[in-house]
Amino acid sequence: ACVDRVAAVDDRVGAFLRFDAEKALAQAAACDAARAEGKPLGPLAGVPVAVKDLFCQEGEITTCASKILENFRSPYDSTVVDRLKQAGAVLLGRTNMDEFAMGGSTENSAYQTSRNPWDLERSPGGSSGGAAACVAALEAPLSVGTDTGGSIRQPAGLCGVVGMKPTYGRVSRYGLVAFASSLDQAGPLARTVEDTALLYDALAGHDPRDSTSNPSPAEPCAPTVNEPLKGLKVGVVPEHFAEGLDDEVRAAVEAAIETYRGLGAETVEVDLPHAKYGVATYYVIAPCEASSNLSRYDGVHYGHRTDEAAMLAQLEAERKAALASGDAEAADAIDTALVRLYRQSRSEGFGPEVKRRIMLGAYALSAGYYDAYYLKALKVRRLIRQDYDRAFEKVDLIAGPVTAAPAFKLGELSEDPLSMYLVDLYTVSANLAGLPAISLPCGKSKAGLPIGMQLMAPPLAEEKLLRGARMYE
Ligand code: GLN
Repeated sequence: ACVDRVAAVDDRVGAFLRFDAEKALAQAAACDAARAEGKPLGPLAGVPVAVKDLFCQEGEITTCASKILENFRSPYDSTVVDRLKQAGAVLLGRTNMDEFAMGGSTENSAYQTSRNPWDLERSPGGSSGGAAACVAALEAPLSVGTDTGGSIRQPAGLCGVVGMKPTYGRVSRYGLVAFASSLDQAGPLARTVEDTALLYDALAGHDPRDSTSNPSPAEPCAPTVNEPLKGLKVGVVPEHFAEGLDDEVRAAVEAAIETYRGLGAETVEVDLPHAKYGVATYYVIAPCEASSNLSRYDGVHYGHRTDEAAMLAQLEAERKAALASGDAEAADAIDTALVRLYRQSRSEGFGPEVKRRIMLGAYALSAGYYDAYYLKALKVRRLIRQDYDRAFEKVDLIAGPVTAAPAFKLGELSEDPLSMYLVDLYTVSANLAGLPAISLPCGKSKAGLPIGMQLMAPPLAEEKLLRGARMYE
């Protein structure tokens, strides 16, 4: 059914960068055969799962929607892909995204535009836009995305599906192409909270191959997800409902909070005094880490290399010869030529937003600015985390909007990076604080566009978060 559906709609939705029907059907057939033979089956046996194009999958192209990785074929499986295989899932295809997960509309993909299935003139959000769109368009029941500053929750909200960012370190980053390592977290997208829990359970757990992986065992969430929480205290942050929030979003989220009251929950006002610095803090830290992570795309080890390569290989041979003959001056001159290879390959391979982030990050990390920007941002990050620690002494979950408005038109924000950054207002602080957070549908605008609600929980409280979300759903 998924293969047919992709064939029927994906030329309009553009969710998949690569989709191989034959491979998908072969995996499904292998699962059927195992079932017929009575072999033990994994918890996701035969269930199609789409994967964002930044998880390494052995033998498959992994581009991160960047020209610089156009021809990169992963030599190994990421832990996420490995766990999906262990669970018996059918790996359906690779979904579109903003280049290196930098963006909030999927318009930064070097390859194609993804569209919001609810209105094809609008963006599905980003950076996991393909992952959210394919679930909303019924092309896949489940997908896996990543969330560095909102990239699972924001597209889930704009496409009317469920998306969860687990606690930092809960899902392994091994084999996931890094954007900002202290913020990146992989997680599930699905049409229901229960499906989200099933996929989360398959992904979560300690992985010795990721040094930031959380060592505590991940308790399964699916078995209890349908049990409502008793004595639930829902935190509401007045700043989340300040000016700038679209009226229809405000009404839908307020109604959702009212629903919790109807279910017996108590609502409590909580204060997050540093939340207003979230976007500014994020857009210092994330580019700093990105500029460092992306230095590996040098046009030498792997990835795109400029056509000048042949000439430069020759120069490299000459440099070695010059060094061997003790002519350091000549060798130096040739080093300069190697810098050209690096610069030219990167100039051709990276798109404008990625270049912007590299420049911002390199600037903020440079001598003389490091203390003023990067170190300051780290301090504010700590204050944001402390705000949440204090808030969660009083409440179980915090509820609010995911985005200030429903899906925006394609092209509406893409010319103005700052307005695109501001879309992340409600999502970035969960990443800065390392907290789990989920986005789930809570209504529709008059124009028929989905509206999302965000719930946040204390670190490692995924079980509570999912139960709380299911209770509303
Ligand atoms: N929109 C944010 C950014 O551009 C978040 C991206 C993400 O979570 N990967 O950085």
